[in-house]
Amino acid sequence: MVAERFQMYIDGKWVDAEGRKTFEVINPADKSVVGIVPDAGVAETRRAIEAADRAFRSWSKTPAKERGVILKRVMDLMAEGRDEIARLVVLENGKPYEEAKGEVGFSMGYFGWFAEEARRTYGDIVPSPFAHKRLWVTQQPVGVVGAITPWNFPANMITRKIAPAMAAGCTVVLKPASATPMTALAIARCAQDAGLPPGVLNIVTASKSRPIGDEMLNNPLVKKIGFTGSTAVGKGLMEQAAKQIKRISFELGGNAPFIIFDDADFDKALDGAIAMKFLRVGGQSCICANRIYVQESIASGFIPAFVEKTKALKVGLGFEPGMQVGPLINREAQQSMQEFVDDAVAHGAKVLTGGKPYTKPPLDKGFFFEPTVLVDVKDDTRVCVEEIFGPIAPILTFKTEEEVIRRANETTYGLASYFYSRDMGRIVRVSEGLEAGLVGVNDAAGYTHEIPFGGFKESGLGREGGREGIEEYMEVKSVVVALPT
Ligand code: NAP
Repeated sequence: MVAERFQMYIDGKWVDAEGRKTFEVINPADKSVVGIVPDAGVAETRRAIEAADRAFRSWSKTPAKERGVILKRVMDLMAEGRDEIARLVVLENGKPYEEAKGEVGFSMGYFGWFAEEARRTYGDIVPSPFAHKRLWVTQQPVGVVGAITPWNFPANMITRKIAPAMAAGCTVVLKPASATPMTALAIARCAQDAGLPPGVLNIVTASKSRPIGDEMLNNPLVKKIGFTGSTAVGKGLMEQAAKQIKRISFELGGNAPFIIFDDADFDKALDGAIAMKFLRVGGQSCICANRIYVQESIASGFIPAFVEKTKALKVGLGFEPGMQVGPLINREAQQSMQEFVDDAVAHGAKVLTGGKPYTKPPLDKGFFFEPTVLVDVKDDTRVCVEEIFGPIAPILTFKTEEEVIRRANETTYGLASYFYSRDMGRIVRVSEGLEAGLVGVNDAAGYTHEIPFGGFKESGLGREGGREGIEEYMEVKSVVVALPT
């Protein structure tokens, strides 16, 4: 296959990096080069920021309804190009094609949702304590946004940020993950074709993220950073953002507990656990089940059933029909899975299935790792304490509700959590007790556009989606009007 060549999108134009520098995009399923994209640095980022600053002057004054019309058109064009965008997702990320189509379909929905929300960024007229004064509270767009996104959902992580930002009247400079820049550029093409004015959305592709991030953080024209990625990188960006008290929203790592009580619908809980462990980018999702807790009284039935379903998963190349699990994103991720398994085994865990990379063709050519089930795992082993981000399922058992809530919360993360139970009292108690921004009760589908999504504790700051998603890109202004006396 011949690698496709791309340009990046700055100030409404398709451009190369200075010196025509490029880098390669690798298909993690077979290590082939599938794309060649511009390798930008500080100069191109600065140009993009300046373009976004110029565009902000008119875009922020464009009526929300008009902004919404353009954003809805972006959604329609993504719908038209859905198969093609999904093809790029598979090539650069490796996930199965049907899953990629699902992601693109969901991701474009953020343009629809926020196109409508733009018209509802209401203010308040507040009763004044003074007879001669009036008090208005309004919201206005924060300014130029620097957005940085990861590779696991190359479409959705982008639209969940840029749709609310642009709906609010902000302009954006986006740096997609170096592993998955092609999807971002395809979305930019839809935005251009939808009539988005030049400079409102700029995409800077780069093999080295640090200089781009530094420029976004140091350039005073950028008023807000929207970052999705690891907690470790988020902490570094937060320190840098402090220098200018730059607004930030962070969607960071997770370590979701998935709890099955003995009163649960067994089959639904089993299917939910498999889905949340393996069927979202093969476990490379921030909201994937990281620790699976099964109540002791049903563990002897649950564990073999879970192992059987794990063995039946179809692991393979994204374009092959019926595939369910693709490769890991790169060699480091594959090595990291092996280290998790080896460490758990060294601390007394047993591998019931999986536990190593694939060694037979064609999967030996990519970064594949066998879907793995571990039992006899201790709470303080790495596989429970850290975010796994891959197809390893540690199964732990518990006796009581109180105990499992305590153990589930013993983590610095707080993004997602799940539990299965048919007891209404328990549903209330456990959903209130879990320290996470998302609680799935008898549900393993994740979030929707209509609700806010984000983390407690070290899993993030701020919310994306829902009514709250657009507020992240607006400043609140109080206007005090003294009447003539
Ligand atoms: P990552 O290493 O933190 O990278 C995320 C993005 O930040 C990439 O675009 C990366 O560029 C860039 N980056 C890395 N270091 C940077 C720096 N010093 N300055 C500026 N930008 C920098 O995370 P990842 O491995 O791509 O993604 C996996 C992580 O994201 C997991 O922890 C996962 O839980 C989290 N995540 C969270 C959510 C959520 O909604 N909470 C959603 C998805 C993923 P390069 O690509 O060039 O490295």
